[in-house]
Amino acid sequence: MRKTIKESIMKNLLMRREREILDRLHAAGYEGYFVGGCIRDILIAARRGILAEGMPPIGDIDVATNASPQQVQEVFASYQVVLTGLKHGTVTVVLPAEGAPSRPIPVEVTTYRSDGSYSDRRHPDSVTFLSCIAEDLARRDFTINAMACDVSGNVVDCFGGQGDIDAKIIRAVGDPNKRFQEDALRIMRALRFAAVLGFAIEPDTETAIFENKHLLQDVSAERIFMELKKLLTGKNAGNVIRRYVDVLGVVIPELLPMKGFEQHNSYHRYDVLEHCIRAMELVRTTPENAGYMKLAALFHDIGKPGTYSMDGKGIGHFYGHPKKSEELVRAILLRLSADKRTMERVVGLVKRHDLLFERDERLLKKWMNRLSPEVLLEILEIKLADNLATGNMSAELEAKFIDIRQMIAEILVQEQCFSRKTLAVSGNDVLAAGVKPGPAVGAALDKLLDAVIEGACENEREALLRYLQGI
Ligand code: ATP
Ligand code: MG
Repeated sequence: MRKTIKESIMKNLLMRREREILDRLHAAGYEGYFVGGCIRDILIAARRGILAEGMPPIGDIDVATNASPQQVQEVFASYQVVLTGLKHGTVTVVLPAEGAPSRPIPVEVTTYRSDGSYSDRRHPDSVTFLSCIAEDLARRDFTINAMACDVSGNVVDCFGGQGDIDAKIIRAVGDPNKRFQEDALRIMRALRFAAVLGFAIEPDTETAIFENKHLLQDVSAERIFMELKKLLTGKNAGNVIRRYVDVLGVVIPELLPMKGFEQHNSYHRYDVLEHCIRAMELVRTTPENAGYMKLAALFHDIGKPGTYSMDGKGIGHFYGHPKKSEELVRAILLRLSADKRTMERVVGLVKRHDLLFERDERLLKKWMNRLSPEVLLEILEIKLADNLATGNMSAELEAKFIDIRQMIAEILVQEQCFSRKTLAVSGNDVLAAGVKPGPAVGAALDKLLDAVIEGACENEREALLRYLQGI
């Protein structure tokens, strides 16, 4: 097993262009190792036997070296280097683009270091450069992230990272309490790796996570949000939220009232939190939209606890909950410093998650025009996930959603008209036909669009111009 793993690393990691960095360092008399996440990902892939099918998608390849930042700059004097991380001993060396489709590859080359004390619990007060890779590995967060690999494919594993990968365990390097007190972001990172890799958190590490969870309050919103987004797209995200909702509740307290909040109506089998987690697990996403679709699904009913009422028959209602959810999700994303696009998409999806869908082509085209086909399809997917996550969805309702998804796809494939842009006449045509410049042009186009969608007029130039004369 060890031999095959070593061969896999040799074959895959060391054939990458980043190897040039190690070779140059060695030629100049320094040590150089690939280190951190790339070793973790390649070892996991090797164990799953994925490597046989080609290189798995691994993230950035980082390099650790005993050369000082100054020496690194000298070794790579003929390369483009970026010095943004110099304070922490990091020099980014840019490998130039090679071949037509290739892009330049930036590689972070970091001097072995230890991080000193963390009096603000965020940034080390001082950084000490070291001469030994083993000491550098000791500052890293989890055993699976604390491995390095030399140019011959030998793995340096001082903390049992390979064993923990075999056992699918996330374990802090050293004393977990101390490590989370140094940098509480590691708490979010532990949850993120548990979600993405499907690993369990080792009991002592888990205990320390619960004991130190309040320290997350001091971590910057941007760092937390980056981890949260990765966490939610992980295959095991649902189970991580179920188990660690009290930890996530430190940064998103709005999640806490959802826990155990019974809905008391015949639609729902689960409490609000479980329902939302299931929606997040079930929602169909693409690699492009997963980040905001998962957020929208998880938060779509976050306003329910605040809008609950029970009628005389003992049935629970949540009047106005989409609006309340929209308000809360906006506040959460602002607090977490979400980027503008994520904010817009999530808020829009949460706000409209109650949109009524019918097998009605005309109505669908009007919504496609108003919101864009992309957004309408995303709302449909959130709604489908919402209904699936009640635990009581009928087969007929599911069939309806699938039909509607198909109808929208057909409108697009057949290039049917649903917007001004897809209309067979333009603003200039309308002007040429005698409509006055100004708002009347848009109004005329909208009337024509309406006529086409309603079936009153063909989407055909002559027919539209004739129709225009009759308005
Ligand atoms: P990803 O796949 O998201 O890149 P990663 O583990 O590579 O995950 P990076 O942020 O790229 O994460 O960090 C590279 C390495 O630096 C990690 O593998 C780990 O060894 C170390 N590291 C990163 N963040 C921390 C931290 N907060 N505390 C200690 N070590 C860290
Ligand atoms: Mg990385």
